[in-house]
Amino acid sequence: MMNILVVNCGSSSIKYQFIEAESNTRLAKGLVERIGMSGALLTNTRHDNDTIKLTGEILDHGMAIEYVLAVLLSKNHGVIKDKSEIHAVGHRVVHGAEDFAGSVLITDAVLQSLRDNIELAPLHNPHNIRGIVACKQHLPDIPQVGVFDTAFHQSMDPHAFLYGIPYVFYKKYKIRRYGFHGTSHFYVSNRMAELMNRPISELKIITCHLGNGCSMAAVKYGQSVDTTMGFTPLEGLLMGTRSGDLDPQLILYIMGKEGLSLAEATTLLNKHSGLMGISGVSSDMREIEQETEANHDRAKIAFEMFCYRVTKYIGAYTAAMNGVDAIVFTGGIGENSTLVRDHVCSSLSYLGLEFDPEKNANGPKERFVTKNDSRVTVGVVPTNEELVIALDTMSIVKGELPPSMRNMVKNTVLDPVD
Ligand code: ADP
Repeated sequence: MMNILVVNCGSSSIKYQFIEAESNTRLAKGLVERIGMSGALLTNTRHDNDTIKLTGEILDHGMAIEYVLAVLLSKNHGVIKDKSEIHAVGHRVVHGAEDFAGSVLITDAVLQSLRDNIELAPLHNPHNIRGIVACKQHLPDIPQVGVFDTAFHQSMDPHAFLYGIPYVFYKKYKIRRYGFHGTSHFYVSNRMAELMNRPISELKIITCHLGNGCSMAAVKYGQSVDTTMGFTPLEGLLMGTRSGDLDPQLILYIMGKEGLSLAEATTLLNKHSGLMGISGVSSDMREIEQETEANHDRAKIAFEMFCYRVTKYIGAYTAAMNGVDAIVFTGGIGENSTLVRDHVCSSLSYLGLEFDPEKNANGPKERFVTKNDSRVTVGVVPTNEELVIALDTMSIVKGELPPSMRNMVKNTVLDPVD
């Protein structure tokens, strides 16, 4: 038996799951919100659905972890009697740069290299680091493992990960495509192969992770060969509040015209663009769909732009892999929006894809939405990043190769230039 605490730290929140990894049993899950603000809240749900909400002063991530441990240990709502029943902690870490092509045991040297990479992910890595430090403090003798959002995409070739700017910036500032949501793209591509009853080593799969943040990946024979997010999670698809692809010159133009600072321009592209910026109504796809049905013009355009970009990248990634066997939808939108899948797949008959609107509209959460003899199979696969983190953590603690690294053939890093 190996109980793993899976931790995902944001700026003011911690999501966690407590998982018995060998049997894949979730013992508890929860969320700490509003850390460092008034009205901080911890919600814990046990495997038997017993739910407890605690409010109070939770000043920092250290205190939040203390509360989480107290709940897991509590007599009435807990699942363990002693801290020693937590065998390891697995952390979601957003950015591993080129240093981490797979999950690792967090040593002092690893922690230092995470600190060295803070500049690459200033909005995420500092909180991930805080979570690690907090767990080290409260569970000092328990191994901690880092699982990186960028790791799965480290298999990309230079032609996919370099930008067309002077090469020196790659070496000087580590500017390249990293890609994100890697744990999710890894999980859903492998799960899709399982559902198709085919080895992933034979399949060309396009994965669409569509949530508040959205990204797609071209997964050829189990390796990520390209992905839409880039140096930061801003590139690629249209998202809730992020612009996705644009002509880089236009932001310089707007900055000049509006006299924007770097920080203001960053906010414009990350917080006020995407579905929100186009529709002027909402960043939330459910509301965009409601407004589209009510014939709100700009919501309609936002919806169409969203779907068009997914469709366009499916074409691009089919070309990148010289074919496609399967397309997977995941994330809040990918898993739940019948309309988005319908809209995207209705332009894919050129692939020999035979969409099945009935299967798309109804069925279990995990299912195919194409006809049985369709040349390309489209699947809906709920993502499960926590399971990947738990299984990787268990393997590392046991000294085995983590599942997410078993298909890995290479990690391409170019030599430095002088
Ligand atoms: P995050 O990226 O923050 O984890 P999620 O993966 O939960 O977010 O995705 C959130 C998005 O999923 C929101 O845009 C939300 O509107 C959308 N969504 C959730 N349920 C539905 C639904 N039934 N129909 C359409 N969109 C949905």
